[in-house]
Amino acid sequence: MQQSVALVASTEVMVSRRRRQSVSCVVPVFNEQSSIERFLAALAASVSATTPDFELVVVNDGSNDESAARILGLLQSLPIHYIEFSRNFGKEAAIQSGLDAARGDGVIIIDADFQHPLEIVPQMIKRWREGYDAVIGVRRDRRGDSVWRRLFSRCFYALVDHNGHYRIRHDSGDFRLLDRRAVDVLRRIPERSRFMKGLYAWVGFRSIDIEYDVAPRIAGKSRFRIIDLIDLSITAITSFSVRPVRMLSIAGAMLAVVALAFALYVMLEKLVYGQPIAGFTTLAAALFFFGGIQLIGLGILGEYIARIFEEVKQRPLYVTANEIDQGLGSPREGLQTLRAAKTGA
Ligand code: UDP
Ligand code: MG
Repeated sequence: MQQSVALVASTEVMVSRRRRQSVSCVVPVFNEQSSIERFLAALAASVSATTPDFELVVVNDGSNDESAARILGLLQSLPIHYIEFSRNFGKEAAIQSGLDAARGDGVIIIDADFQHPLEIVPQMIKRWREGYDAVIGVRRDRRGDSVWRRLFSRCFYALVDHNGHYRIRHDSGDFRLLDRRAVDVLRRIPERSRFMKGLYAWVGFRSIDIEYDVAPRIAGKSRFRIIDLIDLSITAITSFSVRPVRMLSIAGAMLAVVALAFALYVMLEKLVYGQPIAGFTTLAAALFFFGGIQLIGLGILGEYIARIFEEVKQRPLYVTANEIDQGLGSPREGLQTLRAAKTGA
């Protein structure tokens, strides 16, 4: 008993000793010209209410609209660390580069389209300061999603989420606050194909949920089409699960048993009744069946080999074309820590 009290006390000491002051916000941006200025201003207002020590790591993921100009126009007034990719690399890469660049003690990942409510941000920071290493934004319900999307997501998680060690959250996305140590672990993961939801779960640490309702997109439209969803799912499944290959082996074994039983039956027919079964139909059916199974098997194996191929190539996850750093720790440190907390200090 005494020991456990001592343990609790020492964890508290451990938590309080760690710095939980400055905050980085990682914002992936792809063609958000109509709302990006408003969004960044609102985000800055929301975070600066909690801490003057913050930066906005804005990653322009190869936008081909006016997003870049709009962001650059805010450099004078907001502590922005601007990163521009050489082309579109996808949201996961944008987030990764944001995590690489962020220098805050805590890092918030948030979409630029107002779908992640800004009111939650101060609550996230509060929870983090209480000692949680990950504060996870959890969608209150998925009623906004189509039936197809929900069905798809259910099948998907049935395949991915089955190991006993950690759970991949169904109802959470990238919207979250991660403590420095979780960020550092994420950065050390060398995988090329990054299924972030899975990686967040893999990292672990003490986490807490904060529920929120997804707002409708304020402008523009979502870039995720069903085909992207399928693509992401295959990446996720093949990087987080060997279940498909295992199912294949089990199916193979079961089919072998069935084939053996059938062969025995045919032999008995011949031995007992002296008449072989008229075999063509059975033969043709069996041929197609096994041919199909084998092709599926090859396809699944191919997916894993493709994954290995991606990993061994060791290409960088993203290519930065331009970078302007006036974030935390830069010469213009968080725009002089947001002009010394709006000249209050
Ligand atoms: N995004 C990005 N690269 C992409 C697609 C999207 O950086 O290739 C950004 C986008 O600007 C937004 C966030 O990722 O800030 C979420 O994108 P979107 O709203 O299209 O996705 P959804 O909300 O439908 O998941
Ligand atoms: Mg969105």
